[in-house]
Amino acid sequence: NALIKRLYVGKNLLIKGNFSSSSSHSRSRKLEGKVALITGGASGIGKATAGKFISHGAKVVIADIQPQNGQETAQELGPNAASVQCDVTKESDIANAVDFAVSLHTKLDIMYNNAGIPCRTPPSIVDLDLNVFDKVINTNVRGVIVGIKHAARVMIPRKSGSIICTGSVTGIMGGLAQHTYSISKSAVIGIVRSTASELCKHRIRVNCISPFAITTSLVMNEMRQIYPRVDDSRLIQIVQSTGVLDGEVCEPIDVANAAVYLASDDSKYVNGHNLVVDGGFTTVKSLDFPAPDQVK
Ligand code: NAD
Repeated sequence: NALIKRLYVGKNLLIKGNFSSSSSHSRSRKLEGKVALITGGASGIGKATAGKFISHGAKVVIADIQPQNGQETAQELGPNAASVQCDVTKESDIANAVDFAVSLHTKLDIMYNNAGIPCRTPPSIVDLDLNVFDKVINTNVRGVIVGIKHAARVMIPRKSGSIICTGSVTGIMGGLAQHTYSISKSAVIGIVRSTASELCKHRIRVNCISPFAITTSLVMNEMRQIYPRVDDSRLIQIVQSTGVLDGEVCEPIDVANAAVYLASDDSKYVNGHNLVVDGGFTTVKSLDFPAPDQVK
């Protein structure tokens, strides 16, 4: 029932589009018929995004290193969710997860490279633990590159796809996390730009989401190690008080909403972009000059 209209000025086609009065239901379901694979989809940001994608009409495959959690999450999300065990540090696991999604639903429209791990290392570069560094890079960087590689393998022949990766504000500014994690997330932003520059030729978009701190299990486990005697509600308060947008806190659903935008045709001309979901944190740092009457 779509009504396609063409607006002409002289002989020139100015606008061609769907100006129909389609129901608000179909307009609000932005991912109808799409198939998505989400790494690290068993919890936190990935889980929230899986739920949001399904509510917009997508079918989702959760690829997580923890098979039990993946299965439970898929069960919780209902018949439009499935799960597959996948360790993103193993290329064969990612290849298998992509092939599983395609065999289940005949195609892959959305690949969300979201799996990531934190790390606690000494703050100084002089003390950098290269074993930890390699482990984190293997998951947070190599895992993302391999995810893009295998998504592109099945998307290129169809000349269609949206690839999303989870970066972080720590990849934009120095000093927000120790070097290893921060470097891994800077790399994700670079990977997105580099691969978007090639995949645009195949009508595949690659974008990044860089969230602010969210009290998922990833962050809470870190906080519990740093503050072993402090209870969770206080730890949540500590994390959330670091935000700058008054009256709001960063939640998994904020990232999920950004992912729906990047996955859907609403962002059909957005490519190689880093969508920062931080309430303005990375733009707010002030110079803190003393008040004029305090300077002699
Ligand atoms: P989370 O711990 O709730 O979820 C991470 C998921 O990834 C888990 O289900 C875990 O099992 C899975 N995972 C870990 N290693 C994996 C591997 N090798 N292969 C497959 N799955 C693996 O944490 P989250 O906060 O939802 O983290 C999701 C992403 O968001 C990560 O990339 C993280 O770095 C990033 N991020 C988180 C925050 C935050 O404050 N929570 C902020 C910015 C970015």
